[in-house]
Amino acid sequence: MSDLVDELIEAGRLLAEMGLSPGSSGNVSVRLGNEIWMSASGTTLGALNRTAFARVSVDGEPLDPQGPKATKEAPLHLAMYERDPAATCVVHLHSPNAVAASCLAPWRAHSALEPITPYLLMRVGNVPLVPYAAPGDPTQAAAVRTSALEFHGALLQNHGSIVSGSTVAQAVDRAIEIEEAARTRLLVGGREDLRPLTDDEVQELVDRYGQPWGDG
Ligand code: ZN
Repeated sequence: MSDLVDELIEAGRLLAEMGLSPGSSGNVSVRLGNEIWMSASGTTLGALNRTAFARVSVDGEPLDPQGPKATKEAPLHLAMYERDPAATCVVHLHSPNAVAASCLAPWRAHSALEPITPYLLMRVGNVPLVPYAAPGDPTQAAAVRTSALEFHGALLQNHGSIVSGSTVAQAVDRAIEIEEAARTRLLVGGREDLRPLTDDEVQELVDRYGQPWGDG
């Protein structure tokens, strides 16, 4: 099971190298049975090691009171695990394009990002915009936990992105894809000559890849 922690350390390095974790922003976690291992407050994703994690229960109780403290964004991670029982990894980033897109009006209620290329539908599906709250404000985690929409990724308004995955690799892929979809949206969104995917093209991808899409 501890291999997941090693995978997460490697994932943190990759995300930092890609410039998706400016400064000490962003945090990552894995679920090991009933324990969540979360990058601790003040750690840098590019330089994680096995002592840089806070261990908490799925309810957020510290399991190692003498150990590193969990980030104040821990409740968001716990909410993503609670709503996605298959999830073993959660990645939260302040990646530049996702942050920028999170400051714009959402495309639809079920997805802040319009499906302009196939990959959002192949890897993530719905990406709702979760209304703004100050980092650590419990109302935002509550909004994630209680949303009736099916999703594995979201934009946090004026803040960044958060995703869950059934593997570390899937969570990382989803975080990167949201960043790319946000970048594309910023490059071509709002242009009169933009050709988004057609409804038929969207449906074909939803049927083939099975990611949640729409309110249904
Ligand atoms: Zn954050």
